Amino acid sequence: MLNRAAVTTVTAAALGALVAAAIMVPRPAPELAMPALTPPTVAAVDEPSPPLPVILPDFDREQGLSLAGDAWGDAEIAVEPVERRVVSLGRGGTLIQLLLDAEVPREQAHEAVAAMRKVHNPRQLRLGQEFSVLFDRTGEEPRFVGFEFQPAVEKVVSVTAGDEGFRAAEIEKPLARLTVGARGTINSSLYQAGAEAGVPMPILAALIRTYSYDVDFQRDVHEGDGFEVLFDRYTTEDGSIAREGAIRYAALKLGNKVLPVYRYEFQDGTVDYFTRKGESIRKALLRTPIDGARISSKFGMRRHPVLGYSKMHKGMDFAAPTGTPIYAAGDGVIEEAGQKGSYGNYVRIRHNGKIQTAYAHLSRFGANIRRGARVTQGDVIGFVGTTGRSTGPHLHYEVLENGRQTNPLKADMPTGRTLDGKEMARFKALVAEVDEEFARATAVAAAQPAGTLELVSASGEETVKSGACSREPGC
Ligand SMILES: [Zn+2]
Repeated sequence: MLNRAAVTTVTAAALGALVAAAIMVPRPAPELAMPALTPPTVAAVDEPSPPLPVILPDFDREQGLSLAGDAWGDAEIAVEPVERRVVSLGRGGTLIQLLLDAEVPREQAHEAVAAMRKVHNPRQLRLGQEFSVLFDRTGEEPRFVGFEFQPAVEKVVSVTAGDEGFRAAEIEKPLARLTVGARGTINSSLYQAGAEAGVPMPILAALIRTYSYDVDFQRDVHEGDGFEVLFDRYTTEDGSIAREGAIRYAALKLGNKVLPVYRYEFQDGTVDYFTRKGESIRKALLRTPIDGARISSKFGMRRHPVLGYSKMHKGMDFAAPTGTPIYAAGDGVIEEAGQKGSYGNYVRIRHNGKIQTAYAHLSRFGANIRRGARVTQGDVIGFVGTTGRSTGPHLHYEVLENGRQTNPLKADMPTGRTLDGKEMARFKALVAEVDEEFARATAVAAAQPAGTLELVSASGEETVKSGACSREPGC
C-alpha cells in the first residue's frame, strides 16, 4: 500500500531560487533499502492498527458532532463527541502534573502514564511537547478517555481508555521518499552557497564529509566554484519533513576540475561513494577530521611567534570554535583518552599496525571514548577546546607512522574497495539512472531565474581568531 505513490512530480518551490524540484518516487524496494547510514524506518501499517483516538480539530458544541480527520483520509473514523484539551510540557514539569492540570482524575492520570511507559520512555519527552488530552462529552460530566502526542513528525503515541484499563500504542506514519536536487555557485563558502540553495545542514555536513578525503575546504575551494547534490528526503503524507536521507549523487566543480561522486550499495549491503569510473573515494583516513575549520598551522618548520626562532610543528592545527565536533579520522581502537601534559585533553587512535592519529586540546571527550573502545571513521571522539598549552580554541591533529609524527597531507593511505565485474555493471546502470534523476530534479529550477548570491568575503577571509599550539614539545 505504501508503493501507491506512483511517479508524481512535485515542485519544491520553497527550496529557493537555485533549487530544484522534488520528485516523488516509490519507496525503495526491500533489497535496495537504505543501509545503516540512514536507517529505513519507514513504517508499515498494513496490519490493522490499534484504534486511533479521534482527533477533533476543534470541538464545537453548537454543531455537536464534527467529523474527525487525521489528515490521512483513508481510514473510516468513528464520529464521537470528544473534547480535546491541548497542553504542553513546561520546564521541570511532569506529564502526570500536566494531566492533573487538565482535570484528569489523579488515579487515572497515573494509570494512563503507566500504560504509556510501555511504548514510550517518559524521560524522552521534550520540553514544549504538546499533548492532546481527550474527554468524552456524551455524558453529563466530561470523562477522561486518553491522551495522545507526536514525539516525532512521523510518530503518534496514543493512550486510550478501554474496558480493561488504559492501552498505549505507538503508530508510525508511512513516509514517502522524495529526491531533492540542488546546485549552486560558491561565492564565499560552501556552507553559504548550500544554505542559499536550500540544502539543509545535515546534508551539507555529509557532503563535506564525503569529500573530506580529497578536498581541503579551506584551501581548495574558490569563488566561482560550484556544487551539485541529489539527496533523499523522507516526508509524511502531509508533506512534513521527517528526516533527510542519504546523498545519492554530488559533484564539486573546483576550478577546471569536476569531481562527481555516486553513492553505491554493494550486494552485501555496504555502501560507499565512487567516482564515475567506479573508483572509491574513500581513504583509510579523513583528510580533515573536523567540519568547517580552517588550517591555522601546517606540519613543518614554522617561526615561533614569541621566541622568534623556527621550530618543527609536528601536526596540523585547525582553528574552530570551542565545542566543534572532532571525528575519528579512520576506523580503529582508542589507545589513549585523557589528560596528557601540554596536549591537554588528548585522544589517540590506533588504525592498524603502522598508523595512529592523535587529537589534542579537546574541551571534552565524545560519548564512550575511553581506552580500548572501538571507533568507526566519522564517530565523534571529542570537541574542540583549548586545554593544555594552547593560545586559543583549535584542534591539534597528528598522524603517526610507526610511532613518529608525519605530515598528515602526505601520509600514504590505502584506498577503499573497488568495483569490478558484476558490481561495475550495476554501478554503471545506477550512474545513468541517477544522472537522469538529477536532470529531472533540477529542470524546474532551471526554468526559474537563477538567484545571485551575495559576495560576503572575496577570498574566504579569516575572521576566526587563530588558535595554535604554543611551544610545547611535540606540538
Ligand atoms: Zn599544533
